[in-house]
Amino acid sequence: MGTSREFWSKGKSEKGNTSIPVPKDLASKRSGVAAAILCALQSHPLLTELHFKVGCKTTIRHLTTDLESKEDTDWVDVEEHKLLRAIVAAIRGRGTKCTFQKMNMEHSTGMRKAQALAAQGVRNEADAVLNIDIPQGYKVSGMKLSKGTQRTFYRALKARRKRPDRAKTNQMLSRARDAATMLGGKTPTDADIWKSLYHPDITRKTRDFLWRCMHQAYKVGTYWLNIPTYEHYAECRHCHVDDTLEHILLECDAPGREKMWDLAQQLWEMKGYSWPEVSLGGILACGFAGVHDASGKKDSGADRLYRILISETAHQIWKTRCTRVIDNGSDPEKYPSEYEIHNKWLACINERLRSDFIMTDKLKFENRALNFKIVLNTWKNVLDGDENLPAVSLRESRFLVGIAPLRPPGRNR
Ligand SMILES: [Zn+2]
Repeated sequence: MGTSREFWSKGKSEKGNTSIPVPKDLASKRSGVAAAILCALQSHPLLTELHFKVGCKTTIRHLTTDLESKEDTDWVDVEEHKLLRAIVAAIRGRGTKCTFQKMNMEHSTGMRKAQALAAQGVRNEADAVLNIDIPQGYKVSGMKLSKGTQRTFYRALKARRKRPDRAKTNQMLSRARDAATMLGGKTPTDADIWKSLYHPDITRKTRDFLWRCMHQAYKVGTYWLNIPTYEHYAECRHCHVDDTLEHILLECDAPGREKMWDLAQQLWEMKGYSWPEVSLGGILACGFAGVHDASGKKDSGADRLYRILISETAHQIWKTRCTRVIDNGSDPEKYPSEYEIHNKWLACINERLRSDFIMTDKLKFENRALNFKIVLNTWKNVLDGDENLPAVSLRESRFLVGIAPLRPPGRNR
């Protein structure tokens, strides 16, 4: 007969709660909870019953009701999977009962303390004490072929990330540098190029996309030649040529790419400038835009619009391609229609426009607020009928760029 012990979420007993350092590569939102559970499992005799009171519903679900499906799909999409796998192995290795109960955070000082300690544990990257090794007999890995869908297999493959290949990154940096020199007139260093990806005019998601492009971290083209049964991903199934980032963003004939660049060009020409030839390096170096007006004066509003148009359009094309290839299996019947592509791009740019004007609110955003004049200069001449409107009303207006949305076929009046 073993003894029984109760735990409050992230620590030992309510009295003895402690912060568990979580190694950096294991740190995620829920890893503090998981680390504490694992630590408790490892630090108590095998014949002690353990009753965990946990604040995180998802962690409980992963370890109980969803466990079978999580193991069948090899924990794909679960960030703290290493810790959870070790917990499952530890529980299976014990000879006694182990229970989990969901506790409400607000109603317990024990839970509040535990929460604070868990957060501290995730922050603490030093000297991890956790042992996440799984004894041989308890190792369950790999995805069950019968349980995975194409999407989950693809995600599982994506999840097995390698460190970026330095040679590939250097290749992209050099292309970005050449383009940046053409765009801004100066030759940037590597550090300048990386910094340019963090330009405030580039949204967080688009920055992540550009960062991955710079590292050639996306699995496109030849990468798939070495993955059995996935070799067909190596070629663009629309054009039947090698699939590369360059092909996807600048050459592919599948619906979406050309149309979206045309729309970007259309809006840019409304600004009064001619559209440059877009290259892969130019997309990566869009932060270096240095537009001068006819009198040779620097046009910082145009610089901003250029960065927005290039970065957002490239990212929209990438997302459209991923939907076509990954979600829809390159099925031509599921290709997006002309009006869907047109409206999707337009919605994305109008959203940027809207958030720009919202962000000029100094009371609300304080030092993060955008300068109203710069925002105004960004969108000047490209808004729908902006020439007669007083600038000051822009903040209140539901403004749209001067390209009309398309109606779905058959709905024209
Ligand atoms: Zn193609």
